[in-house]
Amino acid sequence: MSVENTQVVIGNEARLKLFQSLSDAADLRTVLETVAAAALKWSDYEATLINLIDDRHENLVCHWSSLPTELATHRDTFIYYSFPLASKDLNVQCFKEGKPVIADRSDVEALAGATWARFKRWAMQSVAIVPIRPMEESEPIGTLMVFCKNRTPHQGDLEFLQELCALAGKRIRAAKRQEELAQRERVVTNAINEQTEFLRFVNQVNVVNAREEIYRLISEECLRRFAVDLISIWLKENDGYVCKSTIAINPNYMPIAQKLSEYYARTVFDDSDFAVTISEVMTQNHPMFIEDVAAIRHVPMSDRVNEILDIIGTPRTFIHMPISHENRPLAVLTFATVRDVFHPNENQFRTIKLLSQFFSTLLVNADVYETMKRQQTIVESLNTKLASEVTVLGERALKDRLSGLYNFGYFHDALDRRVSEFSRHGGSMPLSLILFDIDHFKALNDKHGHLMGNLVIKEFARRLAKRVRKADIACRFGGEEFAVILPGCSLHAAKQFAETIRKWIEKIPVETDTGPIIVTVSAGCSTCKTGDTDSDLLERADRALYRAKRNGRNRVEAD
Ligand code: GH3
Ligand code: MG
Ligand code: MG
Repeated sequence: MSVENTQVVIGNEARLKLFQSLSDAADLRTVLETVAAAALKWSDYEATLINLIDDRHENLVCHWSSLPTELATHRDTFIYYSFPLASKDLNVQCFKEGKPVIADRSDVEALAGATWARFKRWAMQSVAIVPIRPMEESEPIGTLMVFCKNRTPHQGDLEFLQELCALAGKRIRAAKRQEELAQRERVVTNAINEQTEFLRFVNQVNVVNAREEIYRLISEECLRRFAVDLISIWLKENDGYVCKSTIAINPNYMPIAQKLSEYYARTVFDDSDFAVTISEVMTQNHPMFIEDVAAIRHVPMSDRVNEILDIIGTPRTFIHMPISHENRPLAVLTFATVRDVFHPNENQFRTIKLLSQFFSTLLVNADVYETMKRQQTIVESLNTKLASEVTVLGERALKDRLSGLYNFGYFHDALDRRVSEFSRHGGSMPLSLILFDIDHFKALNDKHGHLMGNLVIKEFARRLAKRVRKADIACRFGGEEFAVILPGCSLHAAKQFAETIRKWIEKIPVETDTGPIIVTVSAGCSTCKTGDTDSDLLERADRALYRAKRNGRNRVEAD
């Protein structure tokens, strides 16, 4: 029964009070509570419901209920109850037509649907429903229902209720918008928090290259974020499936993770073991969601899958996420719950996908890193080899083959450098030079042969090299002549050193296959003076050597 009404029944004082209460109300719930209280105050209604149209304009959703005293504890179960606009219901009819209605038990047909159900349950006699409009001509935004147990509302009731809805309509709409905005803000804030959290994780994991560490971090992150208990990571290796890691962070489930790890370590799974699970997820590159294993335990499964389920004990939800790169399957990330079912909401599922994608990037990066490391090791060892070959070649270029001492070219460069150094330091560090010349070498060659001559050259060089200090530079100057540059050595010390060598050569003959050869050597020493060039120093040593030869050989002279 539809009713038209326009009369004013709420007095000025009551209106003012109502406005006051409505504007004081902080949120939608309090606004609706105020409206419901005003309705109940007007008459002996047993119950009120306030329903508002949803965002999609598909349902009238109950946002407020005041129930009969004996049902008061049930009030929350009616909150957010939906009356679909497509259904046949008096409440829906009132909203759609935008007109108030009154019905009592006799209107069985009008009272079909959800409203009738309430009627019966609450043992009501009648109901009055009025549309809630923010402004007189506008579309309704909801309905206000009042129920009576022992009477049928009269015209006056409707007049009052309509006026009440007209007065409160704008405030209800504003409060509803405010709530929707707050809800959206919560969604945005959550999304931002989620993103920040994800970035933190990305930064933490991005610096890690060891695969085991990546598996652990990814698994722990998933376990922390979602109501799942076990995370396993599967890889395909040589046509079989290998579980690389199984982790729990809840201490209750750690023993299960441990047992699974042991079982996985000694088992290689093939396509027939995982025909409908991991194998399929990898080939199809598509996630698989098994909401409740408990409900499908009667379905035949492979022995190995049964063994896994037995170890878990009370397996419930399984989610297998493919980890792929450029459509190539790399791994499967398996989420499992023990005891409780996990049903990810849209947001969580998005995050799971995001984590899986990120995981694939990590695995690809780890591969690249490992390849790079391997190549780097090869390059490094090649470099070391090359460097040592360069050193050998370099030394070869600087050294004399027969004696193993520095060659004439190196000697000249070294002498030049040392003399410059001497003058740079203002002569504070002495620098001396010795020239050795084996006596009568020509005759030795003639007597024992060229090869024996070579042996003598070698032996002399060996003894010389053995006696020089690290800083000294011993060279084969040419033929049977040798030079030693002695940085930090005075003329006196140089003479002593030359004398030591001379005596050692004289006293201990050179051993050969055909017997010992007695050899002597003459030496000429010089020391650097301020203003000297390398040829000055060399010339003086040469002069001294000449003198040693002239004075009978097998002796040391200095200039
Ligand atoms: P002195 O006592 O005046 O130094 O007489 P000497 O015979 O040693 O001097 P001389 O310069 O006349 O002869 C040097 C000889 O050394 C000439 C050359 O055949 C020989 N000789 C030069 N280089 C080599 C070499 O590499 N191996 C051998 N076996 N002999 C060499
Ligand atoms: Mg000579
Ligand atoms: Mg000689």
